[in-house]
Formats: sequence, C-alpha cells, structure tokens
Amino acid sequence: MPTVEWRSPASEMAVQQFDIAAAKLNLDANVAGRLRRPERAMIVSVPTRMDDTRVHVFTGYRVQHNDVLGPFKGGIRYHPAVNLGEVSALAMWMTWKCSLVGLPLGGAKGGVACDPAELSRHELQSMTRRFTAEILNFIGPDVDVPAPDMGTNEQVMAWIMDTYSQHKGRAVPEIVTGKPVAIGGTLGRKEATGRGVVYTIIEAAKHLGIDLSKCTAAVQGFGNVGAVVTKELANIGVKVIGVSDRTGGFYDPKGLPVEKLLEMVSKSHILEGCPYGEKIRNEELLELKCDILVPAALEMQITKENAERLQCRILAEGANGPTTLDADRILKEKGVFLIPDILANAGGVVVSYFEWVQDLQNFFWTEEEVNKKLRDILVKAFHEVLGMSQREKVDMRLAALMIGIDRVARAMLWRGLYA
Ligand code: NAD
Repeated sequence: MPTVEWRSPASEMAVQQFDIAAAKLNLDANVAGRLRRPERAMIVSVPTRMDDTRVHVFTGYRVQHNDVLGPFKGGIRYHPAVNLGEVSALAMWMTWKCSLVGLPLGGAKGGVACDPAELSRHELQSMTRRFTAEILNFIGPDVDVPAPDMGTNEQVMAWIMDTYSQHKGRAVPEIVTGKPVAIGGTLGRKEATGRGVVYTIIEAAKHLGIDLSKCTAAVQGFGNVGAVVTKELANIGVKVIGVSDRTGGFYDPKGLPVEKLLEMVSKSHILEGCPYGEKIRNEELLELKCDILVPAALEMQITKENAERLQCRILAEGANGPTTLDADRILKEKGVFLIPDILANAGGVVVSYFEWVQDLQNFFWTEEEVNKKLRDILVKAFHEVLGMSQREKVDMRLAALMIGIDRVARAMLWRGLYA
C-alpha cells in the first residue's frame, strides 16, 4: 500500500502485483488509486483472561479492501506473524479472487497475532469471543462475512457465530462460513480449498499433456489445505513423495503412505515424530525433484534465493502469496507452469459462498451438488485465465490478476464515486 500504515513485505508485494496488472490493463488512474489501498482497516485490542488469571492483551485486525461487487468476505488468521500489512495484502488478494471466480462478494481478511498452539482451549475461546465482540459493528451477514484461514478452524467459526448470535438475540448462522455442518455449515467446505487446488492441477495436466498417474508431488503445509491436497492427489493416483509442516518435512521417493499420515495427524495435529520416510528440512521440501509442488503454508516461501533450485513442472499455489515477484520471473524462465493462488485456492471462498447462500435460504445441498458446482466454477476460471494468458502473452498470475482486477474496476466505474 502506498501509505506507511499498511506497509509490510506482503502488502508491498500485493501492490506491486496490482500495479503490473493495472499498467497492462491501462486501468483508469482514479480507480487504480482507490484500489491500491483498503477501504477500511481496524486494529483492535483483545483483552483475554489467561488460565493463570492474568489478562493478556492480543492485537486483532480486520481489513476490508473493496466491496464494489458485494459484501466483504475473507478468512481470519491466528498466527504470531499477523500484522496490519499482511492482513491488508490478504484482503486485497481476496478482492481479486472473488472477482476472478465471479462471486458477488468483496475482499476482506482478519487475524489475531497469537500462537494458537500455545493457547488452551479456554484461552482460545475467550480470545475469539472478545475479538468477535470488538469487530461486531463492522461485520454482518450482508456486510462482512468471516471464514477460516491459517490457525483457525470450524470450532473457532462456531464460537464467532455463537458470540454474534448472542449479541443479536437469535441464531445468525450466515455471519460466518466454514462452520460445523450441525450449526448451518455446508457439506464439502472443509475439503473445498484442497479439492479446488487439485481440480486446477487436473486441468493444468490436461493442458500440458501430462499423465497424472505417473506424477510425483510435494506439499508444504499439512493443515486444512495441505492435508486435503495430499489426500486428493493420492486419490487420483499421484505419488506424494514429500510433505512438511512447521515442525519439518518427510520424504520418500517411493511415495509416502498418505492414509497413515492423515490418520496420524488427525490425532497429533503435527507431523513431528512421523515414522514414515526420511526427515528433511522445510527448505529441502520445496527443492525436491517432483512434477507438482504445492506450497500450502505461508507467504513468500519461494523467493529469488531458492526459485532457481525448484525442480517441479507445475507449481500450484494452495497458500496465498507463497511466491515473490523475483521468483515469478525465475520460474517463468525455467518454464514452470504456475497455477496462481487466486485461482488455485479459490475453492475455499467458492464453497464459503455456497454456505452463505444456503444459510440465507435455509435450504441445504448434497455434497455431490457442492462439489460439482465448485468444479464447474474452477474449471471455467482456469480456462479463462489460460485463454487470457495465451491471448495477452502473459504468465498465468498476471492473466488471473487482469481478469479479477478488470471486473472490479468496471464495477467501480459503473457505480461512480459517492461524494
Ligand atoms: P492451517 O493452519 O490449517 O495449516 C497450516 C499448515 O502450515 C500447518 O500444517 C502448519 O504446521 C504449516 N506451516 C506453518 N508454518 C510453516 C512453515 N514455515 N513451513 C512449512 N509448513 C508450515 O492453515 P490452512 O487453512 O491450511 O492455510 C494454509 C494456507 O492456505 C494459507 O496461506 C491460507 O491463507 C491459504 N488458504 C486457506 C484457505 C482455507 O480455506 N483454509 C483458503 C484459501 C487459502
């Protein structure tokens, strides 16, 4: 963002990406100036009673980037590195992502700087409820609808839904997505992001003429996105040779036993102590010789320092912003086929949109319907991006950004400036 308030490596990267796409689109300068920064950003104090009776004050954020296409939508992240700049970058990417896949939603993001692994269940619940209360006047089913992101899950969404509902005096399931099915969540949401990543990999393989049953894959991050990607890749016959999480990675060139890994992590939540494969460092995982690499953890993992050493043919960005602009250039020269984040991981927000629609209508769909509609949307978006990339002779990231930004800009020009 141009002003110092939002500055961080992630937000600078997001704005640079935007500037490149805006220049290529010849975007109206007044519209571009508005889109380079969020519409609204909040920093809140989140006082929380810890188990030892001390009150710890966490810092929470909600950034609303643009709502020209519809209510703000975006996840809530719990991670020690959460800051205003990172949340702003993630909010901007949400705007382009919703637009790219044709959803009537805008872009937002939120988070609390904390390490959820260090908090007890009681502390996590108290912090979540107080954070919800602090942002309560700025969210709402037709205003801004949160969802899960790194470090949050369906339990956290349930506490947000309950806190909001207690304030309103009635059940308001449509205030968040990614909730448990028992309180108005949708079938298929938990798996949607990872499943969507794999749908786009299937389209990329068709385009490149690659037989996926002969392919190998490495996945960074073994949480909501990474674990599902691993499972779905194994289901279609891809050999998963490497996985990692914040505790490190595991590698077996003959293929890791995916079902056993999933079972282990469902109990322990981390890969540490995994008895399968050889232990490797996180950096080594990204550099493994494989056909498909899926970063599904943090931003800025693939940089000018390691991009040259990547050995994959397809890079499918499960995470948001895992690749820097310098690395993009190197990977393009190496001929790596990129499925950019706002396309590859859009399955999460697509099924969040389905959940919101079902809640508003009080009418719920089967998992088959959810998955089919998700696949139709992502396959269409993939081919729109590929078409743009071929017509304009630009890489897949720039093509995806151009489509996403163009739709938002055109809507802004129609609506004009309220003054
Ligand atoms: P999660 O908290 O469920 O899992 C994150 C995983 O990354 C964990 O296994 C964690 O141990 C691992 N990790 C953390 N630091 C790491 C490091 N330095 N190296 C390797 N692994 C590391 O989070 P998630 O929901 O799976 O989100 C992962 C990424 O996907 C984020 O970038 C998020 O913004 C993006 N994303 C998530 C969704 C969603 O629906 N959850 C949707 C779109 C995009």
